[in-house]
Amino acid sequence: MISSVLPTYNRAPLSFVRGEGSWLTTDDGRRFLDLGAGIAVNALGHAHPALVTALGDQAQRLWHVSNLYQIPQQQALADALVANTFADSVFFTNSGTEAAELAIKMVRKYWHDRGEERPTILSFEGAFHGRSTGAIAAAGAEKLIHGFGPLMPGFKVLPWGDHDALKAALDDTVAAVMIEPLQGEGGIRPLPDACLQGLRAACDRTGALLVLDEVQCGMGRTGRLFAHEWAGVTPDIMMVAKGIGGGFPLGAVLATEGAGAPMGAGTHGSTYGGNPLACAVGLKVMEIIADPGFLAEVRRKAALFRQKLEGLVAERPDTFAEVRGQGLMLGLKCRPANTDVTAAAREAGLLVVPGADNVIRLLPALTIPDDDLAEAVSRLGQAARSLAHP
Ligand SMILES: *Cc1c(COP(=O)(O)O)cnc(C)c1O
Repeated sequence: MISSVLPTYNRAPLSFVRGEGSWLTTDDGRRFLDLGAGIAVNALGHAHPALVTALGDQAQRLWHVSNLYQIPQQQALADALVANTFADSVFFTNSGTEAAELAIKMVRKYWHDRGEERPTILSFEGAFHGRSTGAIAAAGAEKLIHGFGPLMPGFKVLPWGDHDALKAALDDTVAAVMIEPLQGEGGIRPLPDACLQGLRAACDRTGALLVLDEVQCGMGRTGRLFAHEWAGVTPDIMMVAKGIGGGFPLGAVLATEGAGAPMGAGTHGSTYGGNPLACAVGLKVMEIIADPGFLAEVRRKAALFRQKLEGLVAERPDTFAEVRGQGLMLGLKCRPANTDVTAAAREAGLLVVPGADNVIRLLPALTIPDDDLAEAVSRLGQAARSLAHP
């Protein structure tokens, strides 16, 4: 029978009806420990009381007015993002893909207004920036672009970790370098701090803009508000989404004064972007996550979780090869197919997310209790045992 939903996803046969913290309940009453968090979206877990209240209060008063008018919730969230980051200004979107699109437009307009011919944006193999025509061209992976040509021109995809290729490519025809400080879909592949520092210096030499995609690794996921803070350098433009809405669709592009200035009135827009509902929730998420005490707690949990996962890898080398990543954005490189490990984990009542390079991603709510982290590791062990002795 043909599906009434376009079948672009291979969905697991589970329908959830309730969520609370790190736990989900299905329509037939089974409970699952959620280490996917809606793909790093539910940063504060399911049904966080402060977010439920923020959304409910705003829903009673006003949902949507469009960007033809002042939106105080949007202004307040922009102020909070500017106060806590490198950025001087913010544009709100509904998703990471739309943030990528604006970042690309911003780069092009920046060089247009300077009267310089800079046709190329450099990006990296294994990247993921979304599913729009621009975002798939930027990432370049065969599985994203196959069948969707002609591709939008203007991108050159470099091998990951190849410094010579980067040095050769980064000349004064390059408008920007676009990169995730910690690749998510690419299989939890971290960019070493020294590489991000080197990239910043290389961009400064040629004038190229540094565009960071922190859609997955931002908003406290790595134990800092944004992942690039670990390297002590700042970008010119940054894409944010996923965790920023805590489950309500919201994204943003953050820019320095110089990078944002060319985007004057009429150059870009979004009907929904930054509407009162989204920003009321986003403001509450930001208030909670940007608190230094909250971030310190994420780092403490992350260290505990990582130590337990290292123990699991030592115990089950038949199933797990390596732990990688940072903070609560961790990956386990698998020996059996990661999709089989994901299914076995599901059988053990644990939800994880497959990524490239045969990795399973562990992206719990940043608020996950220590006991649930221990329970997750125990269920991963159970999944490994069931794979070894089917
Ligand atoms: C998920 C993701 C995107 C795309 O975000 P959507 O909200 O799905 O459009 C872009 N970049 C990265 C790094 C992502 O993880």
